[in-house]
Amino acid sequence: MSNEIVCRQEMTIPARYGKAVRLAKGEAVQVVNVHGTQVVDCWAYNAADINEYMCMEATRVWNQRLNPVVGDSFITDQRHPILTLVEDTSPGVHDSFMAACDARRYELLGCTEPHRNCHDNLHEAMQELGVTLPHGNLASLNIFMNIQVQPDGITLNTLPTVTRPGDYITLRAEMDCYVAFSACPQDIVSIQGQGDNTPKDAYLRVLTSGFPQPEVTGAWVPNPA
Ligand SMILES: [Zn+2]
Repeated sequence: MSNEIVCRQEMTIPARYGKAVRLAKGEAVQVVNVHGTQVVDCWAYNAADINEYMCMEATRVWNQRLNPVVGDSFITDQRHPILTLVEDTSPGVHDSFMAACDARRYELLGCTEPHRNCHDNLHEAMQELGVTLPHGNLASLNIFMNIQVQPDGITLNTLPTVTRPGDYITLRAEMDCYVAFSACPQDIVSIQGQGDNTPKDAYLRVLTSGFPQPEVTGAWVPNPA
């Protein structure tokens, strides 16, 4: 087995737009925060059954964590692992709580003109691969998004990213799947890091080998008393 990095596909996720890739089980996708400031929303679907989707609620039960660390898997609504976080060069600040932005969100923020949004980007990106999603999904994994739980334990604070230019995470496919990404167009709520909150490009690499293979945490069960 070679440890050489083999990249079979790479592309820019243009600022405010989405891109999706199809992964075979065992392949991985690397998400690069080129400028260090960009939040990237992420969804995944079973390629054999597009109704089965990566589910943040089930993932939090599986990992007993608000946000993943290396070795943690992401779980579908049928509680099968679909992706595993195998590498993270960023400070490890991501979010699994906040809904993806959509058209209505921008209306509520006072926009009177249509505003690009992650939820439409998800559908556009999957359409580019010829896949029509049977339903929407606001519950995204928000890579590099900085949502802090406050000391009272119940209040959330929305803050800019703390990522550095070139930081990346690597997600390994645990089944044949589609993974969709959106370089979040949010430019009203201050979530993009350092500066004027302007959305920027991110970058994807699909790897067939050469990425880390950490021990997988597995499903949480309570310790016996
Ligand atoms: Zn968004």
